[in-house]
Amino acid sequence: MGEAKKPQSNQPHAQGASPAAEGPALTEAISGDDLDRLSALQLLDVIASKLPPRHSSLLDLAYLRDRVAAMEEMNDQARTALERYEVALEKLRSPAFRVGTFLGVVEPDRAHVCIGGSDYVSKVDPKVPLSVLHVGERVLCNEAFVVVQGLGFDTNGPVVQIDQVLPDNRLRLGSETSGSPTVVIRSSLLGKEKLKPGLEVRLDLNQRVALEVLGTGRRIDRALERVSELPWSSIGGQNEAVQAIRDTIELPLLHKDLFKRFDHSVPKGFLLHGPPGCGKTLLGKATAFNLRQQIRSATGIDHTEFFVHIKGPEILNMWVGESERQVRDLFAQCRERAAEGQLAFLFIDEAESILGVRRGGRAHSILSTLVPMFCTEMDGIEPLANVVVILASNRADLIDPAILRPGRIDRKIRVRRPDADGARSIYEIYLHDELPLAEPAADLANAVATAHFARVPENEFLEATYRSGRRDVLYRGDLASGAIIAAVVERAKGLAIKRAIADSSAGHLTRDDLLAALRLEHAENDLFPSTDLTEDWLKLTDFDPENVVKLGPIRPRRVERSGVV
Ligand code: ADP
Repeated sequence: MGEAKKPQSNQPHAQGASPAAEGPALTEAISGDDLDRLSALQLLDVIASKLPPRHSSLLDLAYLRDRVAAMEEMNDQARTALERYEVALEKLRSPAFRVGTFLGVVEPDRAHVCIGGSDYVSKVDPKVPLSVLHVGERVLCNEAFVVVQGLGFDTNGPVVQIDQVLPDNRLRLGSETSGSPTVVIRSSLLGKEKLKPGLEVRLDLNQRVALEVLGTGRRIDRALERVSELPWSSIGGQNEAVQAIRDTIELPLLHKDLFKRFDHSVPKGFLLHGPPGCGKTLLGKATAFNLRQQIRSATGIDHTEFFVHIKGPEILNMWVGESERQVRDLFAQCRERAAEGQLAFLFIDEAESILGVRRGGRAHSILSTLVPMFCTEMDGIEPLANVVVILASNRADLIDPAILRPGRIDRKIRVRRPDADGARSIYEIYLHDELPLAEPAADLANAVATAHFARVPENEFLEATYRSGRRDVLYRGDLASGAIIAAVVERAKGLAIKRAIADSSAGHLTRDDLLAALRLEHAENDLFPSTDLTEDWLKLTDFDPENVVKLGPIRPRRVERSGVV
């Protein structure tokens, strides 16, 4: 560009120029190489110098020179711009370096690297000593995937919870990470860290390495790990259930050798089923308390109890994948505690909500993963390993049969509503002798239990209409529960205290306090559904929903009529 073209030596002279005035042609006067080195402007100058002064062509040449000068300047500018574009284009064309995760050394001089989800065994630039790279660190790889630089650890990345700590520095994560459970390795940073299931860790961007611990994550509140003093005698009217529990759990744990010798199957837990407020939770806690006492008096060894009480819906209301992780975590904790010598109890209330019969459809999809997972966890518990799983439910019929197979929760123990005798013994438990009672506890209990179970109009409570058209009336006694009895006694105490304050007496709890409290409890209580919906009330009874078309309270009308408030 910009170079002067060498005129052809045999080219005819420009027309109109007189050869006499010209002198020798340029090509004759200057060597070819020198001519080549001259720019168009210089050539013009040489030509002009060869013309005599005031030659008529000099003006034309001056004009031509200006034009050529302008063109050369334009050429120069264009060249500079083109050069800049070429540089930019080169940059755009060259591929970017890739950032990968360093997973380890393969050979003395090669690195295992993960880039964009794919694995490579890469050469390493000799300027980067492999020994300075840390597992989990980011590395820069060139076009040939050669590691050319260490970039340190990522500061961001997905946060997940550990499901299980595996040998060889590996960690199992729940399915929330990638849709299915994953195993990752620990970074050099976590090599010596004491990790536990449930902890939250941050992964590298390729999701292959756990980089740092971020916290404990959301856990179900498990404040209750010890149970208060609950001898079997503090539970009334449940003799059958108590005996069944003792046979199921106490005997095998107290006589382990005998059970092993006879190769007798040992349940890993039991299901308590029955209406609400009748003592299922109480029985679960009492199992833990009494088993500890029994083992201590039989062997002299005190295994402290670890009692986890959890409601099914608490597990269910978690985010995707979290429910499963929590269940696994609960089992893992129980096994850990048992291994440390504790008696571990996992009590799952409202169990039908998470272990219900699996059905098709999206709404139940969580059950289709929770039920098999629960079964696997149950199967993983060794019999007699000091882990007891207790399920409680108002609707045992809804629990998936897979849960209730032998070797899992194969003992179903019914917790019934107390009958009049049971109610009497529960009243007696709450009306204990240390209270200021106006009469002996047994007499008071008898009086209030008799009133509670009397089949009189005042006690009419529910009306059931059957498919056949037949109607039936349920009395207060038919819906009695330990919870109601405990509440009645508490109310009676409140009345006695008020009276003592009003008449400045020492105060005693009387029969009338109890009877008034019983009426008030039924008029105001919040232990029964506040609606008139048949389904709500059906849950409290043993009626087969198929047979009953309507079930609802008749109490409000009667209360108004009888003037009881
Ligand atoms: P469930 O788990 O069956 O719904 P709970 O065990 O939670 O019932 O009972 C609630 C409360 O009622 C208990 O804390 C206790 O005070 C009282 N209670 C229930 N059943 C009995 C019983 N059989 N003996 C003594 N108290 C009882």
